[in-house]
Amino acid sequence: MAERMLQFTKVSRAMPQKRSAKERAADFREIYGEFSPDAAQAQASRCSQCGVPFCQQGCPLQNNIPDWLKLAAEGRLEEAWRVSSATNNMPEICGRICPQDRLCEGICTIEQSGHGTVTIGSVEKYITDTAWAEGWIQPIKPPRERSQSAGIIGAGPGGLAAAEQLRRKGYQVTVYDAYDRGGGLLIYGIPGFKLEKDVVERRIRHLEASGVAFRFNTRVGSDVSLGDLRSAHDTVLIATGVYAAKDLKCPGSGSEGVLPALDYLTASNKVSLGDKVEAYESGALNAEGKRVVVIGGGDTAMDCVRTAIRQGAKSVTCLYRRDRANMPGSQREVQNAEEEGVVFEWLANPEAIIDTKGGKVKAVRASRMKLGEPDASGRQSPVKTGETFDVKADMVIKALGFDPEDLPALFNEPSLTVNRWGAVRVDYATMETSLPGVYAAGDIVRGASLVVWAIKDGRDAAEAMHKAMRAAEQAAKVAAE
Ligand SMILES: Cc1cc2nc3c(=O)[nH]c(=O)nc-3n(C[C@H](O)[C@H](O)[C@H](O)COP(=O)(O)OP(=O)(O)OC[C@H]3O[C@@H](n4cnc5c(N)ncnc54)[C@H](O)[C@@H]3O)c2cc1C
Ligand code: SF4
Repeated sequence: MAERMLQFTKVSRAMPQKRSAKERAADFREIYGEFSPDAAQAQASRCSQCGVPFCQQGCPLQNNIPDWLKLAAEGRLEEAWRVSSATNNMPEICGRICPQDRLCEGICTIEQSGHGTVTIGSVEKYITDTAWAEGWIQPIKPPRERSQSAGIIGAGPGGLAAAEQLRRKGYQVTVYDAYDRGGGLLIYGIPGFKLEKDVVERRIRHLEASGVAFRFNTRVGSDVSLGDLRSAHDTVLIATGVYAAKDLKCPGSGSEGVLPALDYLTASNKVSLGDKVEAYESGALNAEGKRVVVIGGGDTAMDCVRTAIRQGAKSVTCLYRRDRANMPGSQREVQNAEEEGVVFEWLANPEAIIDTKGGKVKAVRASRMKLGEPDASGRQSPVKTGETFDVKADMVIKALGFDPEDLPALFNEPSLTVNRWGAVRVDYATMETSLPGVYAAGDIVRGASLVVWAIKDGRDAAEAMHKAMRAAEQAAKVAAE
């Protein structure tokens, strides 16, 4: 092992080839290429095989990273994929879009010693992309079919991870989703330049081929009730994500041309998928030729600014009220956006949307901020300096985050307990909600979070659902004896 691993003093950290900013701004394809087999092996060999692997602690799924890095370094890719996929239902997706700098790679030991972190995410993506290409990923054939069934509300990463885990154990699984496609925010939120659409669609096809049934265009709460699903299935999972967009509270925020981020991104993603979107064609949700201002500093804001660049915006400016070091979005994505021509106005808070006589947006007035005392979360609060400035705009995109929708009202289930932010309360040991036999996972439990956390929750919920259904099956057997 020693010869093949611990190469970090000899081999420098390298990411897969990144396309030039000019080239990538012209399309919605992913910006990073794939490692060559030699490069993947060399990068994996940089791992120091720590006795206590901090990277594993930094990964919400507790992925067995040093083991699959070692197998990849030895060219034993099928074994590497088996280890990697044992703890993660979509490693090629996490490898692409996890903010690794804040998770596994952020606490990599060799990074701490100044050698540059192992490129864990890129090797993870390489291993599973290879597994798909080699045909190692085949439809699931459970050891035995069970008659019990699970109903899953939401085909985002939380729901899909749970569906796969339950199907592996032989349960009959039906996923209900309000959208016309599976993937949740993987398909309609996150743009193709971070995660190409066919990578997500391949996972849905895999689950379909494995016997998971999908009921698209089915909104629970209106097309079918939660009560119907509880009657039809032995257990139910709520994995509906969070979709109530936080609004801009300033004069003029209702002007024409001020848009919610998800409407804008969903339209763009639908166009990438080949759909005809009227609001895009009319120009209402198309940034082409416009001066675009995006308000916010998270992943959604970064996806909006980079989408606007690709649509051919005349200029793109991002306003964020704190500074670069204190923004919630990934630093890697800010760098990518800057390379592509986005201008960042740090420490800038919108004060008013200025519109024309006809009510169309023409500028955003912003206050220049400075960082003051830390708030309860420990982050320094932005305070006004008294200086204001205007940024001309034809389109303003609000990317201020999301809250849970009012699920007890939407589902007409007042006894579904939520916390004061509206997130569904669960018993964290089982992910069960206040309704017996109904579990919850992902953003609807945590608030807006990450794909990898939704996968973890989906897996944990599936395990608890399995235990409950197995116990019920055994109890029925005893009663019948
Ligand atoms: C623009 C954007 C970019 C992001 N970028 C990243 C990133 O780079 N990396 C990262 O890790 N995370 C990112 N995230 C966060 C990540 O996408 C979410 O944390 C994750 O998708 C949550 O998964 P989920 O399964 O809980 O919910 P979702 O992915 O939101 O899926 C929920 C599904 O439930 C369905 N649904 C909702 N209500 C109903 C109903 N009543 N009936 C039927 N179906 C319903 C929805 O249609 C949807 O398909 C991003 C989020 C956004 C908005
Ligand atoms: S799932 Fe995400 S956090 Fe875990 S090893 Fe992969 S990239 Fe890192």
